[in-house]
Amino acid sequence: MDEIIKTLSGNPVQPIKMDLDSKFSFMCHSGLECFTQCCGKIDIFITPYDVVRIKNRLGITSGEFLTNYLQLMELKKSRLPLYMLRMTKEGRCPFVTDEGCRIYSDRPVVCRYYPIGFGLLKSKEVGGGDFFFPIKEAYCKGFEENREWTVRQWREAQEINIFDFINKDWFDIVLSKKLLAPDFKPTEKSISLYLMCSYDIDNFRKFVFESRFLSLYEVDDDTVELIKEDEVELLKFAHRWLHGVLFGNPVIKLREGSS
Ligand code: SF4
Ligand code: SF4
Repeated sequence: MDEIIKTLSGNPVQPIKMDLDSKFSFMCHSGLECFTQCCGKIDIFITPYDVVRIKNRLGITSGEFLTNYLQLMELKKSRLPLYMLRMTKEGRCPFVTDEGCRIYSDRPVVCRYYPIGFGLLKSKEVGGGDFFFPIKEAYCKGFEENREWTVRQWREAQEINIFDFINKDWFDIVLSKKLLAPDFKPTEKSISLYLMCSYDIDNFRKFVFESRFLSLYEVDDDTVELIKEDEVELLKFAHRWLHGVLFGNPVIKLREGSS
């Protein structure tokens, strides 16, 4: 399943297994001749919290973001599709400019990790992947800079913990061994609910507040207020509900008499 997290094409991945205390020298800045070269011809998988950050940054809905910037990928080892950032026809990231990333403070988690890749076998609340590895493109001059990091320090500097925390329940789903069970056969409807709960938060909000959802499910008043006001809480609620949709044994239960 780690294959879904290993997101960069080609073979710049170094066969070096790192942990949180592994050290590397690296610095990226606009003075380097390679500046922004890495922002093209790459596979950047997008997490649910990436969608929230970027669509708000762009001032568009999650649905518009999916349509205009992402593409759906079916991956060999995953029974659920994942969204990737769609490169332009020139093979460049749609957010790169001569001055750098135009969504830098809201860039996806994969870009935050770069030039470190990560593999996940199971999700972690905070602390990241199960293992890490350097990604060394021949053109990248950042490795020649004299600034040493541990992977842990790099993660902190790139503010990755908050992404891990918010995406945790979703990673629990997409990395679940239950997906590999022979009797796991998602229907078209459950895949469509999975996509909505994972990536289309504005549509999920309508689904909850403009349908019979709240009369069908046991959701206490405090939670209703919280998810109405706070988009991140709504996202985490979507993932809790999704767990029941895909695997049964729901965290958010139907009211008695509802079906
Ligand atoms: S130093 Fe590496 S990561 Fe930074 S811009 Fe150059 S190629 Fe990209
Ligand atoms: S989102 Fe930003 S950092 Fe990531 S590839 Fe695009 S331009 Fe580069």
